[in-house]
Amino acid sequence: MTTIGFIGLGIMGAPMAANLVTAGYDVVGFNRSPDKAKDLVAAGGREAACVTEAAEGADVVITMLPDSPDVLGVVTGPDGVLAHSHPGQLLIDMSTIRPEASRQVAAAAAAVGVRALDAPVSGGEAGAREGVLSIMVGGEAADVEAARPVLEAVGTTVVHVGPHGAGQTVKAANQLIVAGNIQLLGEAIVFLEASGVDLDAAIRVLGGGLAGSTVLDRKAANMVGRDFTPGFRLALHHKDMGIVTTAAREAGVVIPLGAAVAQLIAALVARGDGDLDHSALFALTHDLSTELPDPR
Ligand code: NAD
Repeated sequence: MTTIGFIGLGIMGAPMAANLVTAGYDVVGFNRSPDKAKDLVAAGGREAACVTEAAEGADVVITMLPDSPDVLGVVTGPDGVLAHSHPGQLLIDMSTIRPEASRQVAAAAAAVGVRALDAPVSGGEAGAREGVLSIMVGGEAADVEAARPVLEAVGTTVVHVGPHGAGQTVKAANQLIVAGNIQLLGEAIVFLEASGVDLDAAIRVLGGGLAGSTVLDRKAANMVGRDFTPGFRLALHHKDMGIVTTAAREAGVVIPLGAAVAQLIAALVARGDGDLDHSALFALTHDLSTELPDPR
């Protein structure tokens, strides 16, 4: 039986780890703050007391952590994954981090014979629960094929997009598209509410045309119902807009609309809304239209 060490049991990691158990893997999970392993244990997985316990002896180690420093610390730190690894072990980082940080992880892994992949995901909490994530993978082709059965237990679209770091570059583009989509959906819903049309009917018909999108399907109800429970925290999307802004600058590319949405996300984080779902971009747009009464 393949043993998977799974580090980072948050909004995404917990359901992904549980899906791996359902797929027949022996999963040993660790999260820094306690109480996060409940779902994994309920699904039949095991809880580890530290990174070492989760990673040592595992055939595959998966990390699903917030940001680049978290991944670098957990993987390359003194008591990190690589300090207790064995040659041939597969290390799959599924967090969204800087492409350069993924290349650093891959180089440190290669130095001790560990095969690393960057495999960030898209599809949100619902996609993680349903096991239908889209996974963009960077690394060596043979390692991607070795990891494919594991990745296909948590996702339905698994695509090898290039060398180490390429998965993160594609994920940065994903986050740019999602941020812009959410902002324009929010603007449209503020506009529709203010115009007094039947909102449910409007959203239904918009969803069937060119304006339809997964963002509309999954986020319109949050906006209409003012339910900004994460989902995907604005603080994490703020991190991702930083990643894509820097990567675009390095590529010599301007992203004018992305830059504007990045500022709106930054404003929400600055006013203390970083733990809300990114659909709260709607709330800022609503607040900017100050003369509008709240129709609730
Ligand atoms: P989260 O904050 O809910 O989960 C991260 C978990 O990692 C937390 O439970 C935290 O306690 C744990 N953690 C942090 N440092 C740790 C350490 N040193 N050792 C062990 N555990 C540690 O975040 P999330 O929403 O699950 O996102 C995880 C990653 O996936 C992020 O990079 C995010 O950008 C990306 N992502 C999130 C979504 C989403 O919709 N939530 C979608 C796609 C990608």
